[in-house]
Amino acid sequence: MSFDQIIAVDWSSSSTPSSAKPVANAIYVGLKVRGQPVDMQYFRTRLSAMDAICAMLNRAQDAGSRVLVGFDFGFGYPQGFAQALTGQSSALGVWDWLAERIEDGPDNKNNRFEVADQINRALDSIGPFWGCPRGAETDALRQRGSERDPRQFPERRTVEALTSSAQPMWKLYTPGSVGGQSLVGLPMLAKLRVRYGGGITVWPFETGFAKPATNIVLAEIYPSLFDATLRMGDDGTIFDVLDARQVRAVCEAFENAELDALFGAGFDQTTDAKAAQIASEEGWILGVRKQKTDGDSLTPPPLGNDCFAMPQGVSWTPVDQALDQLKKRVRAVTATETIAVKDAVGRYLASDVFAQRANPPHANCAVDGYGFSADAILEGPNELPVVMGRAAAGAPFSGAVPKGHAIRILTGAVVPIGVDTVVLEEDCTVEADEQGQPIRIAFHGGLRKGANTRKAGEDVMKGDVMLRASRKITPADAAFLTAGGISDIDVRAPLRVAVISTGDELVEAGSTARAGRIFDANRPMLLSMITAWGFEPVDMGIIRDDPDALKAALDEAAKSADVILTSGGASAGDEDHVSKLLQSSGSLAWWRIAVKPGRPLALAMWGGVPVFGLPGNPVAAFVCTAIFARPAMICLAGGDFAAPQAVTVPAGFSKRKKEGRREFLRARLRNGVAEVFASEGSGRIGGLSWAEGLVELPDEAQDITLGTPVLYIPFSSLGL
Ligand code: AMP
Ligand code: MG
Repeated sequence: MSFDQIIAVDWSSSSTPSSAKPVANAIYVGLKVRGQPVDMQYFRTRLSAMDAICAMLNRAQDAGSRVLVGFDFGFGYPQGFAQALTGQSSALGVWDWLAERIEDGPDNKNNRFEVADQINRALDSIGPFWGCPRGAETDALRQRGSERDPRQFPERRTVEALTSSAQPMWKLYTPGSVGGQSLVGLPMLAKLRVRYGGGITVWPFETGFAKPATNIVLAEIYPSLFDATLRMGDDGTIFDVLDARQVRAVCEAFENAELDALFGAGFDQTTDAKAAQIASEEGWILGVRKQKTDGDSLTPPPLGNDCFAMPQGVSWTPVDQALDQLKKRVRAVTATETIAVKDAVGRYLASDVFAQRANPPHANCAVDGYGFSADAILEGPNELPVVMGRAAAGAPFSGAVPKGHAIRILTGAVVPIGVDTVVLEEDCTVEADEQGQPIRIAFHGGLRKGANTRKAGEDVMKGDVMLRASRKITPADAAFLTAGGISDIDVRAPLRVAVISTGDELVEAGSTARAGRIFDANRPMLLSMITAWGFEPVDMGIIRDDPDALKAALDEAAKSADVILTSGGASAGDEDHVSKLLQSSGSLAWWRIAVKPGRPLALAMWGGVPVFGLPGNPVAAFVCTAIFARPAMICLAGGDFAAPQAVTVPAGFSKRKKEGRREFLRARLRNGVAEVFASEGSGRIGGLSWAEGLVELPDEAQDITLGTPVLYIPFSSLGL
């Protein structure tokens, strides 16, 4: 390695010294001297950690050693912020600005919320910083991110689009929020720069994406990038805290890494226009490689024009392979926003969510009954005096319950000191005084210690990951997150899906259809499928089989939607105007999928937006949308696609199926048996309406008779 020593720091923004015993969300410093095991240290305050780091750097300087120092908070802010705050697009300028204003004492007491408020005010806005304890809230610095003004700056830095769980720099106040750590960390780094002068450089701000030359190099790191399941090391259990193990993993990984390549991060500075801006303003995380399609971090970059390219001359692609390809080629394209949990059901999470509070926060009681210490209980009959007072939900008992005594306790009450076990009131004989106050109870022992109580944190512990990015929020999630102290979350904006019907024969529902005309049946079907899936439908109407009209419609759709569904005209014939036009974009690919019903699916990019050219036939359009477009749209929307839940049931029909393609039949379950629609004619929309699901027959040949097990996918599994 080109460095003799690696120092990795897991930082904290705590306002008080962290506990004497090493805990999560505190400061850990790992020092790896070449050839020696990692030396891990725990610090209760930022100043003591910085003193120790300076001592390490001084020793290294004396020895003439090169040291890489990594801190795990953001070194820069999203594009535009530095300029707005300081008048220069320079992250180091922001460091100095903060160093002049942040006060941070030997006891960790600091003014980061005041400074954040000051910044928001200087920018004349509610936000961009948000998140604070109740007492620190002002009209410019809000507790809730959703109360901020419309964004002046992107929510995330470019690099954060590549580290899915990274928290935005603007968020100051939850476990795992890096924002507060940067506010109290950057001034410390500014001081290191002053102290070591020309002997220290900050990557990439002073070096660009190139190898630094000085003996001390500062870089941003992201410990969760590394596998922290690594061995625990010589210090045994003291540092059995995830943060500490990650710091150790960082040290070990960097010792063995090709650091020169990491400093390049995959950027080509001569051709990459964004590299210079990132290198001066936003910064980068050492160890993250820029990917080919890199762009704005607020709205992910559009998909490449070659997104749907298929090798020429391939024969029919099996359904599973086509689905696999689709999932690989598309990714989230929607912007990220912070909204209230109660409004977030149906949205896809943009970053992991960490519990801000344990649930339950205290051990509490699960029933109405009497509580006591199990240590004083006999196996057989027991008789206990009942203390005065009671413990109820929201009205805790403030005293301690002496051993050998019981207390009246109700469901949801915090378990009082001296109590670890509760007996159901139905299992007690109660003696009461004249006022009806219980004074003595009798019951049979044999209760397990802890019976009828819920342990603190048994649902979730503070700081735990509650839900992962890409999760689609459910009503139950809203309850879970709220119990974990979360009120706002980062989610993806809803995916906007444009629907275009094409064909000279189509007329709008409700109008008069002359001979030779048919009503446009696909549009109401597709628009409602989109709504059912939680996407935002954009109705583009019926477009004639006319290249100019079609082009205008596609242009308009590409502006107002994230994905476009067309139906009709997508085959390769003379009247297939959609495919002709898409071909002109140079990105049309025919996906010849071995499926019935279906024809080649026409996939293309139009104005940076993916287009699904669906067959006109309503039955085929339905199946192609449900089976192929849906998974692709879920990925575009920020979710992870999982195959629909199917059940195996006996066939209520017979059919001989040839080898070579998968078949979907309109079906429904009656008495546990799958019936299929009498006619397979794909023009029969009535059969689609009759159906409550699809029977999926495998690619292989199959001779199905009554009772043969078949796969049935209820429409509900397809979200319909
Ligand atoms: P195409 O894919 O354009 O060749 O159309 C295949 C069949 O589907 C033709 O019979 C069309 O008339 C019919 N069709 C196309 N679009 C629609 C629509 N929006 N609603 C109902 N039928 C349609
Ligand atoms: Mg047509």
